[in-house]
Amino acid sequence: MSRTGALIRSIDKLPAELRDSASAAERAFAGGLDAAGRLPFAVTPHFASLARPEADDPIRRQFFPDPREALSETGPFALPDPLGEGRYRVSPRLVHQYPDRVLLLAGGACAGYCRYCFRRVRMSGGTSFITEGELEPVLSYLAARPEIRELLVSGEDPLTAPDRTLEGLFAKLRRAAGTLALRVCTRVPITEPPRLGPATAAMMSAWKPLRVSVHINHPRELDAEARRALGFLSAAGIPVLVQTVLLKGINDSAETLAALFRDCLDLGLKPYYLFQLDLAPGTAHFRVPLGRGLALYRELEERWTTAGGKTAELPPYAVDLPGGGGKIRLSEQSIAGTENRPGGPVCLLKGPDGSLWPYPAESA
Ligand SMILES: *Cc1c(COP(=O)(O)O)cnc(C)c1O
Repeated sequence: MSRTGALIRSIDKLPAELRDSASAAERAFAGGLDAAGRLPFAVTPHFASLARPEADDPIRRQFFPDPREALSETGPFALPDPLGEGRYRVSPRLVHQYPDRVLLLAGGACAGYCRYCFRRVRMSGGTSFITEGELEPVLSYLAARPEIRELLVSGEDPLTAPDRTLEGLFAKLRRAAGTLALRVCTRVPITEPPRLGPATAAMMSAWKPLRVSVHINHPRELDAEARRALGFLSAAGIPVLVQTVLLKGINDSAETLAALFRDCLDLGLKPYYLFQLDLAPGTAHFRVPLGRGLALYRELEERWTTAGGKTAELPPYAVDLPGGGGKIRLSEQSIAGTENRPGGPVCLLKGPDGSLWPYPAESA
């Protein structure tokens, strides 16, 4: 079984071209991340190999520490827990926000750190894979609630754990809740594709109903190795969903998004959500303003249907209402109005129950 390879944890360990592309400011900032308690620098050799040395390269920007992170760390809109997971935490590792599905923070590690991560604050501390003791309350919670239909195995990246660890987890979850559907949330097929071979796909396939949700942001992430890893899942009959985060300067063009979703569909993957960025500290420079995001989505729909595609093939544009209001689909109708707040103008987003949730109207 393949294992997660060693992560590159300093700029000096990057391939020469990338290493030499670091500006003095980037170097200084990256060097001080750990001491400042910021999200560490880590990237897999595979993901780094996809990057080009230009500062605005869409792959490089996703993992290269950027001094701009410091500018919005404590801004008026920065939320350490942007999804409000703390509000719905029913045990240290279980989040229950929607009636029939729960999210397990399985922990472990990530195969590299995305600079725009919404769990940035939690990641900076690091967690271990869920222990027996931590799983105990999860299992009794599930056993007592047959209305829970699906469990998302998330929280860092579960595929950084060995197959037998995952299998042990799946077995215990199923023993507690016999018909529970599993959704494994991961970026490993993109960041560390050799980890996902036929053996892992076969293991997961034995635990159906099981789906895999993969985080993919840019067509260039789907290189030959990633396609092969994803192909093992499809060959094993495992449905694969794709989640994409709208990121300024990375994928914020209708052309790039259309190319990404076309590639996903051609590979048999289902584009599932296009997410507006969450308000994690230090990520404001990745934020596409809501108005621009909505215009972009309309442009994407038009481009897509003009090319003969069906709008149902596109993922909905969605946002998690800041602080725990849940996921909503974004459209022009989601914005009840704008307001000036001390930190700057906000859009008031309509929650499912009519409640209003401020989201900054501008980017950084
Ligand atoms: C996103 C999410 C889910 C799953 O929602 P889907 O719309 O089915 O993808 C479940 N629980 C939490 C806490 C979530 O954030």
